[in-house]
Amino acid sequence: MYIVQIASECAPVIKAGGLGDVVYGLSRELEIQGHCVELILPKYDCMRYDHIWGLHEAYADLKVPWYGSVIYCTVHCGWVHGRLCFFIEPHSSENYFHRGVYYGAPDDPMRFAFFSKAALEFLQQSNKCPDVLHCHDWQTGLIPVMLYEMYQYHGLEFQRVCYTIHNFKHQGQTGYNVLEAIGLNRPDYYFHPDRLQDPFNPFALNLMKGGIVYSNYVTTVSPHHAWEARHTEIGCGLGHTLHMHQHKFSGVLNGIDYGFWDPEGDCYIPFPYSHDDFKSKARNKKALRKQLGLQDEEDKPIIAFIGRLDQQKGVHLVHHAIYYSLHHRAQFVLLGSATEAAINAQFWHEKNFLSGNPDCHLEISFNEELAHLIYAAADMVLVPSNYEPCGLTQIIGLKYGTVPVVRGVGGLVNTVFDRDYDADKKPEERNGYVFYQSDLPAMESAIARGVGLWYDYPKEFRKLAMQGMEYDYSWRNPATEYVEIYEGIRHQSEPAEPAE
Ligand code: ADP
Repeated sequence: MYIVQIASECAPVIKAGGLGDVVYGLSRELEIQGHCVELILPKYDCMRYDHIWGLHEAYADLKVPWYGSVIYCTVHCGWVHGRLCFFIEPHSSENYFHRGVYYGAPDDPMRFAFFSKAALEFLQQSNKCPDVLHCHDWQTGLIPVMLYEMYQYHGLEFQRVCYTIHNFKHQGQTGYNVLEAIGLNRPDYYFHPDRLQDPFNPFALNLMKGGIVYSNYVTTVSPHHAWEARHTEIGCGLGHTLHMHQHKFSGVLNGIDYGFWDPEGDCYIPFPYSHDDFKSKARNKKALRKQLGLQDEEDKPIIAFIGRLDQQKGVHLVHHAIYYSLHHRAQFVLLGSATEAAINAQFWHEKNFLSGNPDCHLEISFNEELAHLIYAAADMVLVPSNYEPCGLTQIIGLKYGTVPVVRGVGGLVNTVFDRDYDADKKPEERNGYVFYQSDLPAMESAIARGVGLWYDYPKEFRKLAMQGMEYDYSWRNPATEYVEIYEGIRHQSEPAEPAE
């Protein structure tokens, strides 16, 4: 099959979070399984150009109709660790992708509506004929809408769309002017509860809802999150739409790319190790302590948090976990970055307050290399999320023999099985600690169980960590599931029609 992934991120060249990892890892595995995969991405000024090989101009004058006029784009082509990527660069005064950030501009819906339109124009004008377009999150939600309503009559009649939702929180709510810009001219038709009308604001368009309604198949990133999105407030208003389209909706658990996340071949860690050579993990712990200036005289468990500092990630619990760990004979390492100013200020305040503490380091930045070393060095990785569509940190932690301590929500339920309480798993299949309530005592008790085992039964702790390493959360199985979905939709006779 010929598959084109269209997304706003692809790791490691454009990565703000798990979306980038998924787009890269899934593409790589699909190629390993014999499919042809290409990616279409925005050409941001701030992406990691050092991860692109052979970047060159592939298409000089892509004309993208916009507000009844035209914006010219250059399409650049290059390889990101073996994946063939096309980067779209518009030439207009709006400078859509020259903002120094990937997201967070007030005109984000317009920026990504433009990207979506440009991606379809590129496919059409370059005569590409993929079987499947795989689109991701609200940024590309307009692609199936435009494909059905417009581009199927202009040369793209054979393409079918799989649409994956990575985070229901961000849905791309916007106004009428987006329709005007992309050339869909019947606002009454689109501002309809069965199409793109926002569930909460009748005067807003919802781009993610458009993606759900118009795609041939819709997934989210874990089976438990698929259930939550339909049946609880986690769907952020889209539960009803998912319910109406349940015949084409399911959860496919994300994998991680074991070519990139593998303690045996990880070029960012000084002492590679494996399940059979687990004791070398301790040498990375020493290396991390040295790098961060943590005390190494008395051996203590290191508890780590790696992730966006955002309400989603349970920042109030992260904050408490730092002090709880320090008061209970553990060290704490945090690597995170915040887009919200108040959260950023709060963690900078903590960082300054704890700066002389020999058992604690807070690194407030995005640092891929350091993340690898922390996964390798820590004993436990904490994921206390309020909600978590899939979560990659616990999956990476498992691969690195770093015991996850997680809140039982979303994909964390599908991947972490409590050592003491998971009745559905045999003791030798359990791999971490799970708590369910979002209050402080619930998390404290899970951390206490982990720290207690580390001190009192170190062999048992090691066994638990090594049991986690045995899980296969590579892309092999999820990619096979996606191929089945693609096979199912490519034989559908036309693009998905919105329900009346
Ligand atoms: P989300 O997509 O919600 O941000 P995930 O758990 O799905 O969360 O994916 C997070 C990914 O981003 C992981 O690969 C994690 O290691 C990485 N990551 C998050 N924050 C940082 C950071 N500050 N520095 C380096 N890597 C980070």
